[in-house]
Amino acid sequence: MAEHNFDVVILGGGSGGYAAALRSAQLGLSVALIERDKLGGTCLHRGCIPTKALLHSAEVADVTREASAFGISATLNGVDMPQVNKYRDGIVDRLFKGLTGLVSSKAITVVAGEGKLVAPKTISVNGENYTGKNVVLATGSFSKTLTGLDIGGRIITSEEALTLDFVPTKAIVLGGGVIGVEFASIWKSFGTDVTIIEGLPTLVPNEDAAVSKALERAYRKRGINFKTGVRFSGAQQSATGVVVTLENGETFDAELLLVAVGRGANTAGFGYEENGIKMDRGYVLTNDRLETSVPGVYAAGDIVPGLQLAHRGFQQGIFIAEEIAGLKPVTIDENGIPKVTYCEPEIASVGLSEAKAAEKFGAENISSYEYNLGGNGKSQILGTAGFIKLIRQNNGPIVGIHMIGSRVGEQIGEAQLIVNWEAFPEDVASLIHAHPTMNEALGEAHLALAGKPLHAHA
Ligand SMILES: Cc1cc2nc3c(=O)[nH]c(=O)nc-3n(C[C@H](O)[C@H](O)[C@H](O)COP(=O)(O)OP(=O)(O)OC[C@H]3O[C@@H](n4cnc5c(N)ncnc54)[C@H](O)[C@@H]3O)c2cc1C
Repeated sequence: MAEHNFDVVILGGGSGGYAAALRSAQLGLSVALIERDKLGGTCLHRGCIPTKALLHSAEVADVTREASAFGISATLNGVDMPQVNKYRDGIVDRLFKGLTGLVSSKAITVVAGEGKLVAPKTISVNGENYTGKNVVLATGSFSKTLTGLDIGGRIITSEEALTLDFVPTKAIVLGGGVIGVEFASIWKSFGTDVTIIEGLPTLVPNEDAAVSKALERAYRKRGINFKTGVRFSGAQQSATGVVVTLENGETFDAELLLVAVGRGANTAGFGYEENGIKMDRGYVLTNDRLETSVPGVYAAGDIVPGLQLAHRGFQQGIFIAEEIAGLKPVTIDENGIPKVTYCEPEIASVGLSEAKAAEKFGAENISSYEYNLGGNGKSQILGTAGFIKLIRQNNGPIVGIHMIGSRVGEQIGEAQLIVNWEAFPEDVASLIHAHPTMNEALGEAHLALAGKPLHAHA
């Protein structure tokens, strides 16, 4: 059996794995990157990029539909799904070519095939062994379902939803988290009658309560139906549709049921546990240096408990490469990871929600402020509603920023700098935000919290 030796052997070429490979190569380490499908992983091929392309097509549909409100006469004649998919695939293909070119321009050995850990630092692929002084596990995640709810036919996950060549007339989305509300948004804009079913009391339950409430208000206005705090009982499909039953006996029928109940770690059958790696419910446990219970074996991305986001995977991959190279990188603060949900209206947040901040510092030691986008010129021009909510420690830094409104995702860059640099509202208030931008609303919110509001009542 052929043996190959490297400084770093990486299993999985998604966001976490390829970031670790690129940074390791930059640092002069020899690298093998093992991938069974396509470099880029979920994010590029089945996640972030294709969904955001569909959301953009959805925005174009909305703008066309509402064009007359802006004095433009246009008619939305329909949604040509094959053309939408062609536009989306063109973007994915270009990025895939770019990534493949980038990786092949570095000293990275890409190994095609499914790898399995056969010793703590050896991965076997197609009968050949790849041994690393260090190993990085980055095998990603898969769409979960519920017990007794089999995926197939009219019951689909986000993977199948991305391959549809038609717009469903009626759809049920099981799960009101990020993936669920994004697909509900896309389909509604395309003309589908959508109902979201969520077991927890609110949509986007991981966001600040004010944001969840605002999204529910916006979805009601858009005609997106939802039921929260209800428990799914079962689904029956026929040749013509699917019927979903709740535990309370209520039923809903639709053409399709999208199951968006979260993602599980893709770790089964890869020899992790057998080689001494401590796991919890399929996830790989690490310390804050991202090292597993086996010294020299690291893990990155969705298999590590925490937020399942591509940029977290990138940062973890970079961190691991620098750790291996002895650069002693600063540990990643999970709380400082920005989150964006790209539905309409968008949601963007970083840091603590008001409830979490109150729990951590005591309700009497924090203050919050909500700047309504009604006072922001650019938001009025775009016709969007929403707010920017700040949470600060009294006489201390901003610890959470929560935003909702069209395009607020683009504001997350400044928001994450403010939270991660532990800026005080007074620091931000003295910085100038260009007029008229939506970004100005972030500046205005800080002016108000610093006690000197401009276009706002304090
Ligand atoms: C619908 C959807 C939308 C999303 N939108 C966003 C978004 O807008 N923003 C965001 O930040 N995140 C988003 N995400 C999440 C994001 O895609 C993931 O967090 C990210 O891809 C995780 O990276 P990863 O490297 O851990 O895993 P992955 O990207 O899943 O990569 C793992 C790779 O490992 C390979 N692999 C697995 N097992 C083996 C093996 N044994 N041998 C060889 N290769 C193997 C797989 O083929 C895959 O390429 C979205 C996810 C979904 C599903």
